Amino acid sequence: AKVTRLAPSPTGFIHLGNLYGAFVDERLAHQSNGVFMLRIEDTDDKRQVEGAVETIISSLEFFDLKFDEGAGIDGEKGSYGPYFQSKRAELYQTAAKHLVEMGRAYPCFCSEEELEEIRKQQMAENVNTGYYGKWARDRNLSLEEIQVHLANQERFVLRLKSMGILEQTFEIEDAIRGYLSMPVNDQDVVILKANGIPTYHFAHVVDDHFMRVTHVVRGEEWLSTLPIHYELFTTLGWEFPVYCHTAHLMKIDEGIKRKLSKRKDPELGLEYYMKLGYHPAAVREYLMTILNSNFEEWRIENPDSDIDEFHFTLNKMSNSGALFDLGKLNDISKNVLVNIYAQEIFDFLVKWGQAYRREIVDLLLEHQAAVLQLLDVGRDDPVKPRKDLIYCEQIFDFISYFFDEYFQIVDPYPENIDEEEVKKILKAYLSTYDHSDEQSQWFDKIRTIATENGYAAKPKDFKKHPDQYKGHVGDVSTVIRIAIVGRTSSPDVWALQQIMGADKVQQRIKSAAE
Ligand code: GLU
Repeated sequence: AKVTRLAPSPTGFIHLGNLYGAFVDERLAHQSNGVFMLRIEDTDDKRQVEGAVETIISSLEFFDLKFDEGAGIDGEKGSYGPYFQSKRAELYQTAAKHLVEMGRAYPCFCSEEELEEIRKQQMAENVNTGYYGKWARDRNLSLEEIQVHLANQERFVLRLKSMGILEQTFEIEDAIRGYLSMPVNDQDVVILKANGIPTYHFAHVVDDHFMRVTHVVRGEEWLSTLPIHYELFTTLGWEFPVYCHTAHLMKIDEGIKRKLSKRKDPELGLEYYMKLGYHPAAVREYLMTILNSNFEEWRIENPDSDIDEFHFTLNKMSNSGALFDLGKLNDISKNVLVNIYAQEIFDFLVKWGQAYRREIVDLLLEHQAAVLQLLDVGRDDPVKPRKDLIYCEQIFDFISYFFDEYFQIVDPYPENIDEEEVKKILKAYLSTYDHSDEQSQWFDKIRTIATENGYAAKPKDFKKHPDQYKGHVGDVSTVIRIAIVGRTSSPDVWALQQIMGADKVQQRIKSAAE
């Protein structure tokens, strides 16, 4: 069984990269009957934002990712907590003391200015070794010297006493990248800051050890610091987790492949998808296509299977930068929406409305029966009307004409029909309107209105003799469609009228004919 964790910092911004990593964590854990946990890395006060933890949890839940253990909205669950790093100070300090006792950590009293001085000297000597070897000023202080510094109440950080030798390398297998040969760590890195708070490096090692994490899935930006973690794990004598460094999400921008950026790409943030109301199944489906190169093939062979039946594997992951393509996500999304039942779309629409469009929720619930029919109207048509819908905002737009509160005439009437003519047609329609007409009777009436008013009964007649007619029957039905639905393109008008009911239809025609 694998134990994985998502370890976000509560900065208030949760993005696709987090979701992508979380998806890997979740699959690894659940495919092996393991545990997927959430740990909040809140040791950096400066980056913390109120409500950020709730945002992380609710965003991940929105995309159907559930944690078995860890930080939650109603407290924590699991017996390996606390799951907030800010509550784990004692653990880090205990582990740090242990390193001091082993002679592998020491207090460093260098001030910022002194460190700057060291850097300057290194530049002058044309070396850039960092806090290392002879440059590690406080590395060999005696106990007495340390006591003097302490008595002076000088601030200090705790550093690892690295045993790394310059130019030595070590080998490690990354589950995504394969065997890596890396330089050993030779820096006396800080493990506890002056305020007693651990650095990422130390907290990562201590937490992942004590939380029995078997697989560390994290972004490739951490790869270069792996030597530090390797040294810490081996020094403490702890078993090494399997590292899985995921590639950055990239996009093609003006022909150039680059990393998705928070500043330039709104689609990086999960909020983008939640606000528009993408269906989580679509986002998961899309992410799996970029996570595993064999997923699409599997999907073709198993069109109706639950995505969780696909066996995700780390070695099918790209290590050169996964290409994110919003257009492809949108195509998948359309496909997902066409293939789910109206009831499920309805429920999702309501849920989305509750979070982002409060004002439509009551309307939807009040007219549930009609909305369900509207979502399915024309589903037997060769052209499925729902086929171009990508997210909730568009789904609502697609049915919005039904609600008087949202109905608007958005498209113009046909050019060849002036205002007077529109009114004439609509009045004629109203006078013969009978809600119980079958579809064929209804259409016969429209044809009659057309021919009686100088329009060709068939488009081809008009084509042949354009000078004999004002237009053709299609123009007449477009007028009627616009008056009732407000747009030139919609599902079958007769079917829509049946759902809308006689009163609403007559009301619309009347007000358009005025
Ligand atoms: N807090 C780190 C981040 O948000 C976590 C990295 C890790 O998963 O170890 O990038």
